Amino acid sequence: MQESRRKYFVSPLILFSMNGGSSSVSCRLTNKVVIIPNEYVELLERCLNSEAVYLPRSIREELLSKSILFNSEEGFWKKLNRERETKGRHFPLVYEIELTNHCPYKCVMCPRTNFMDRSLGHMDLNLFRKIIDEISPHQKFTTLHHFGESLLYPHLYEAISYAKSKNVLADLSVNPQMLTPEKTDEILDAGLATLTLSLDSLAPGSFRKIRGKDADMQLIEENIGYLLSRNLRCGKQLIITMQMINMRHNKGEQDSFIEQWRDSGADAVIVRQFSSRDFSMEYVADLSDDDIGVQKPCSAPWKQLSVLWDGRVVPCSLDYNAAIVLGDLNNSTIEGIWQGYKIKELRENQGNYLLCRKCARSPERMIEVRRKLGFRRFHYTDSNYKIHKIYSEYDYSEKLRKIGHY
Ligand code: SF4
Repeated sequence: MQESRRKYFVSPLILFSMNGGSSSVSCRLTNKVVIIPNEYVELLERCLNSEAVYLPRSIREELLSKSILFNSEEGFWKKLNRERETKGRHFPLVYEIELTNHCPYKCVMCPRTNFMDRSLGHMDLNLFRKIIDEISPHQKFTTLHHFGESLLYPHLYEAISYAKSKNVLADLSVNPQMLTPEKTDEILDAGLATLTLSLDSLAPGSFRKIRGKDADMQLIEENIGYLLSRNLRCGKQLIITMQMINMRHNKGEQDSFIEQWRDSGADAVIVRQFSSRDFSMEYVADLSDDDIGVQKPCSAPWKQLSVLWDGRVVPCSLDYNAAIVLGDLNNSTIEGIWQGYKIKELRENQGNYLLCRKCARSPERMIEVRRKLGFRRFHYTDSNYKIHKIYSEYDYSEKLRKIGHY
């Protein structure tokens, strides 16, 4: 007897690609993959349109067991929250410490330029030391920036070297225009472990469109030249990454960007996908041709924290304006904040927070965007990942993992 048709809920966290007559469907939550005949992709699409469909038992069970399909939306949320809790940490990773939120640039893709209105300042060095003292038994690596140019921090040498003395290696991402030879000497002498240079274009015109009118390509090239040769002289102690964020302003430059820097002495050249923070979809569409599609679902409140320059703690690197303040390290500890009611509330009701509802990593937002874009545009893998490229001579991720980078 043939089983009857029924309705299912399709996970917003799946990607599919077609190869001949079959499709590979992968789940970004469990990393599991299923190969199905192409016509079943059409059935998934119909499920999404709330149609009742008939799926043969073997395919249905495979799709259900690999978290691609659910009997109800409630089942999807239960599974997601179970995974988050299982993989959660007893003590959080302090992902970023914001040394300063001052920055002289007006980069188009940075929410700081148009949307950040919290007060500006530099972190008190004693507060920084207190944070490092608390995290050093738990982690070997942290990032020393959030929404500012850390090269402006007056105690940069002391901060990097103090962290290193407690066995916490430091990472920075900087605008190379600020990286004068004196600053290069300072960060290398202090023992910085990894450095990302945000470049975004090779053409002076597009570079100024992205980074603002004061961007000076010639100065940048001189600064990078000094950094690379000084790093070579000290045995490549610093892992250097050249990074470009793919946007409409630098369209078509990805391959030449990789070509320009691949033999420069940098350890990796990366072209990243632009992704939204709490920008509107229209703002994102103005910056990038590519849709924000399926992302890895947010697990920040179960795993990590970021600390602002004034000691307030927020859940992740996207909270540029302190929209979700979980505590204040001037009168609390990381452990206390991690056990506190505010983060518990965030874990239980993330969909109630405006910042999260607008974030590209939130499943709530993915469900909403999928509704607008439709199944094929949202879930088809080529439109999501074709623009993310990494070039490196060796296993760069492995090298980062060895020094404690995550
Ligand atoms: S969903 Fe919220 S907590 Fe998670 S990354 Fe986005 S803004 Fe941060």
